[in-house]
Amino acid sequence: MDLQHYLKELEELVNIDSGTLIREGVTKVAEFMAEKYRSIGWQTELKDLGPEVGKGVFATNAPGAETYDVVLVGHMDTVFPAGTVAERPFRIEGNIAYGPGVADMKNGCLSMFYAMKELAPEAAKRLSIAICLNPDEETGSNNSKSWIDAIAKKSRYAMICESSRNEEGLLVKARKGMGRVHFEFQGLASHAGNAPEAGRSAIHEMAHCIVALTGLADKAKGTTINVGLVSGGDAANIVADKARAVLDVRFWDNNDWTRVEKAIREMISKSFTPDIKISMEVAAHLPAMFPSPETETFMKLVEKAGEEIDIKILWAEVGGGSDGNHIAILGTPVLDGFGPTGGYFHTPKEFLNIDSIIPRTNLIRRVVESL
Ligand SMILES: [Zn+2]
Repeated sequence: MDLQHYLKELEELVNIDSGTLIREGVTKVAEFMAEKYRSIGWQTELKDLGPEVGKGVFATNAPGAETYDVVLVGHMDTVFPAGTVAERPFRIEGNIAYGPGVADMKNGCLSMFYAMKELAPEAAKRLSIAICLNPDEETGSNNSKSWIDAIAKKSRYAMICESSRNEEGLLVKARKGMGRVHFEFQGLASHAGNAPEAGRSAIHEMAHCIVALTGLADKAKGTTINVGLVSGGDAANIVADKARAVLDVRFWDNNDWTRVEKAIREMISKSFTPDIKISMEVAAHLPAMFPSPETETFMKLVEKAGEEIDIKILWAEVGGGSDGNHIAILGTPVLDGFGPTGGYFHTPKEFLNIDSIIPRTNLIRRVVESL
């Protein structure tokens, strides 16, 4: 493949501000990618996923197929606000490329395409392949999840082409599940000096709850609990009538999330302090992605494909989620981290190892060919 041409196109993609909320930017990336697939004769569709988000891209070499051998999934949005490109556009220093989304994951979107473009003609003819590029992964794929899942359900395998981890190029076989719970505490305000007994402190209640919530963690199972955000109160001399907390739960075992959620609901049904109302909402939930026996078979296949092109495959289990999580519970074997290697995602230091572009693109191609 032509690396210089790839880098030129990557520059073009990175230099489009496409934070999830910048809908026109994300759609511009979608149009760019759709055009690429059209240019190799694939049936391509800009997917309307609602007014809240930019367009998605669906592409396939098998129009009208009932099932697919594989679906490749990537996302076009980044976490960066409008104006980031003007501040720090795409640039190359030696073997490293920088810029917003350069490794999370405009590189992956492009590598998926190059891999498909260079697919052996025999494989391109034999296999039905689907491509899904979504516009809202960074905010939880709320508008695209059901669309991706519907295609993944009809697919034998799913490959997520997020960047692989660090320079060893670790692939991801397991991701923790995540639950995010918002709490609101409603108490009664009162003067802390003149009439403290007339008040009901929402902050005091929240403190009790935080201790109880933290107790729901299960170290042996790998279930962790973090209250990462709190707010509340109006002044030091007022008994606080309002407080808020946001809880982040991570777990390997989906049953353990059920246990935690149930315990939380029980806990808030009766407050520690009388007359305080607690409400909760599960604002986000991703099931854990854990390798099934079918996934293990898929891993063997990936290892063999790596061997054939001299790439050593190493596996990682990570705490963060991706579109792989919701695909995994459908029963479709899914692996993640097929993109070129990079690091510092979601920060201004985000980088991509240019040397990894050709080998990783070849890996995607080779894995698909071997399905
Ligand atoms: Zn990503």
